[in-house]
Amino acid sequence: MELLDGRLVKKEILNKLKEEVAHLDRSPGLVVVQVGEDPASNVYVGQKEKMAKELGYQYSHVKLVSDVTQEKIEEVIDGLNADETVDGIIVQMPLPKQLDTKRIQNLIRVDKDVDGLSDMNAGKLIHNEDALMPCTPKGIMDILEYYQIDVEGKNVVIVGRSDLVGKPLAAMMLNKNATVTVCHSKTVNLAHYTKQADILVAAVGKKNIITPDMVKDGAVIIDVGINRIDGKLYGDVDFEGVKDKVSYITPVPGGVGQMTVAELAKNVLKAYHNIEK
Ligand code: NAP
Repeated sequence: MELLDGRLVKKEILNKLKEEVAHLDRSPGLVVVQVGEDPASNVYVGQKEKMAKELGYQYSHVKLVSDVTQEKIEEVIDGLNADETVDGIIVQMPLPKQLDTKRIQNLIRVDKDVDGLSDMNAGKLIHNEDALMPCTPKGIMDILEYYQIDVEGKNVVIVGRSDLVGKPLAAMMLNKNATVTVCHSKTVNLAHYTKQADILVAAVGKKNIITPDMVKDGAVIIDVGINRIDGKLYGDVDFEGVKDKVSYITPVPGGVGQMTVAELAKNVLKAYHNIEK
């Protein structure tokens, strides 16, 4: 078994970007809009800030009070959409209940939507057109590419169908000519599907939902799950149980989780180039 090392792939991506950014006339601009003071959101926003500063991006953080109105946040986004120094806009999720999340995601200019969560970018991805793509599934595609694991013609089984991970990943895999099966909480006999996977992706959020008997010998395992139990991080896959059975596996931590911020950095540069064109 070989580990798919997200830290290594992330480092390579960030080093390449740093070199490219050093030669630009203007620093790419990233703005993160955060509503309230959710502790997990504070951590994620901090990671984005660290990445942006490391790469020499222009970074700003717009903090709004937790009872901000829909009208006010829309005004903020309209302003950022019009600002020529801003290439990428992120609205940190989740948002408080009084706000219309979908409407806010769709208000971000398509070419500045570096989270790739707008309907327009999702549609472009489905149609295999150039798009800003969601970072976590794009990170999975890049890890596989780095390790030269070709997905064409492979049986790819994805457990989880969220708009953030499972669905966009299914589209990316189809666009690369994989044969894709997507499973979810209503799937009857999950193991029947997972056992056929050449590449098995678990994106559920339940520790050990994938056990050794559910995995084919020699399969590639991508574990997206992040489950914090008693202060320790676990994926969705019984790592110890499957590790001697599979060909490659992403560890948790140190696998897919590393990639999200690197892919965001790539998206900001892509948005910069789209805008500069
Ligand atoms: P989510 O929106 O909660 O979606 C979970 C999916 O799992 C749903 O499609 C759900 O099915 C399915 N599911 C739940 N129980 C199941 C079961 N018993 N059998 C089969 N499928 C089942 O979660 P998410 O945002 O996609 O995230 C999934 C996991 O990845 C979480 O642990 C999250 O923390 C992690 N994550 C990691 C990163 C990263 O950077 N590494 C980024 C995002 C998410 P239904 O659709 O039928 O409800």
